[in-house]
Amino acid sequence: MRNETTKRIAGALLPTAALVAAACGVLLTGPARGYFLLGFGLPVGQRDFRVFNNFSSQNANGNQTPDANFPGYQGALMAVWKGCVEWQSRLHGNGDGDPHQPGGIGSGGANFDPSFQGDAVEIGGLNDNTHSQISGCNGGVLAFCEGPGENGWRIRYYECWEWDDGPGASAQSWDLQGISAHEYGHALGLGHSGFPAATMWPSIGSGSVSERSIHEDDIAGVQAAYGVHSATKPIISAVTVSGSQLTIDGSGFHASDARVWFTQAPAGGDGSPIKASAGPTNGTQITIDAPLNAGPGDVLVINPGWSHDVVSNSWPVDVLGPQCPPPASYCVTSPNSAGGGMGIGHQGSTSVATQSLALTAHSGPPLQPGIFYYGPEQIVLPFGDGVRCVGAGSLGTFRLPVVVLGPLGAVVHPLDWNAPPISAGPGAIGSGDEWNFQFWYRDPGGGPAGFNFSDALEIQFCP
Ligand SMILES: [Zn+2]
Repeated sequence: MRNETTKRIAGALLPTAALVAAACGVLLTGPARGYFLLGFGLPVGQRDFRVFNNFSSQNANGNQTPDANFPGYQGALMAVWKGCVEWQSRLHGNGDGDPHQPGGIGSGGANFDPSFQGDAVEIGGLNDNTHSQISGCNGGVLAFCEGPGENGWRIRYYECWEWDDGPGASAQSWDLQGISAHEYGHALGLGHSGFPAATMWPSIGSGSVSERSIHEDDIAGVQAAYGVHSATKPIISAVTVSGSQLTIDGSGFHASDARVWFTQAPAGGDGSPIKASAGPTNGTQITIDAPLNAGPGDVLVINPGWSHDVVSNSWPVDVLGPQCPPPASYCVTSPNSAGGGMGIGHQGSTSVATQSLALTAHSGPPLQPGIFYYGPEQIVLPFGDGVRCVGAGSLGTFRLPVVVLGPLGAVVHPLDWNAPPISAGPGAIGSGDEWNFQFWYRDPGGGPAGFNFSDALEIQFCP
C-alpha cells in the first residue's frame, strides 16, 4: 500500500512554470521514453465517472451551449466528460464536441471504455471515481489523481488556478478538458510519459489545449494496459431515440444476455450505471425502453463476463426514462426561537438502489439536538410547541439517530441503509414504500414545552 504523499505525486500535473523544480524531483521519468504503466487496469465495475461541480473559477462553467454529443450537461461536467471519453475505444458518437479536434473525441483503440454518470452530490471517498475542485494550492501542482487502482480513484483540481471549461482556450487559464484527460489517464493506469507531446507528459502551459487529444504514445499505453480493441468487443455504431425508446445498432451484441448501461438522471448515487437487460438480440440491434431513473448521457452495451472486451464504446443519447416521484411537503411548521419555524427537505435520490438520500432541516435553534423520525400516516396533532405530522398507524414510528443542529441552525443527515430501522424490521424502507418524515428538536427558548417540529415530507421510494 502506498502512502498518501506517493499517491499524490504519482498523479500530479504541473504547469510549465514548475518544470525546473520538477526536474530535480521525482516527477519526471528521466531520459525520453514513452508511456509508463502503473500496473493495474480498471475492472468492468469501475468504468464509471462523475463530477462534483464545486469549481469556482469564473470560466469553469462558462460554456452553457448544449452539444448533441454531450446531452443534458454543460460547463465543467461537459468539459470533464469530453476529457474522459477521449480515452475510449472508438469515437464518442460522431466524435465531435471539440473545435480543436473535429470528429476526433474517442481515440484509445483499446479494450477500455468509460461510463459517464453525471452529477455527484459530494466529493466522495477515495474510490468513488469523482472529479472535483480542492481548496487552496499546492505549489505548482495543478491537479492530481488520488489512489488510482483497481478499486477506483478520485481526481482533484486545485482551487487556486483559473480553470476554463472550453471549448476554446483563453491564454491565462487552465484547460479543464485537457487536464481531466491527463488525470483520467492516471485513473485508468498510466503514469507519466517521456514524450512531451503526449497527454501523459507531466506538465502543461496555461491556455494550452494540447492534452485534449491523446497522442500515439498515450494510445500505445492504454492499449498495453487493456489490450488492443478486440474483435469480439461489442460496438455501438448508431443510436436512434423515439420517445423513451432506443434502437441501438452495432455488432457483437450477445444473443440473450447483453445489458445496456445508462447514465443516471438523478444527481448522486454511487456512480453505478442504470442497467437494463437488452433481451434477445440478433447481435446487431437492440430495442429497449429507457429504464427508471435513466437520463441524458451515454449508453454502453455490456456482454456477459468480466474481461475488458465485454464493454462497448459509449454513445451519447438524449433520453429520459421514468423518474422517481419528487418528495412532497405537507403539514405546517411552527414558530421557534430562531424565527418562523423549521423546514424539512432532502438531498440525493429517493431511489433505494442508489442509497443516496439525505434528510435536511433548516431554520432551527443553533446547536440544539433533534431527531428525524418517520412513519406510515399523515396526521395533524398539536404537540409541544408545534404540530406533529407523522402518525404510527399499525406499524409504529421510527427514530433515526440524534443529530445536532449546526451554528446556522441546519443539519444534513444521510440515511444509513445498513442499520435498523431502515435496513430491517417494521420500519424497513424498500422500493415502492411510501413514508412520511418530520424533524423533532429541542428549543428551550422557543416556548413552554421546550420542543418543536418542522413541517413534514412525504417520500415515495422507488427502485
Ligand atoms: Zn500527471
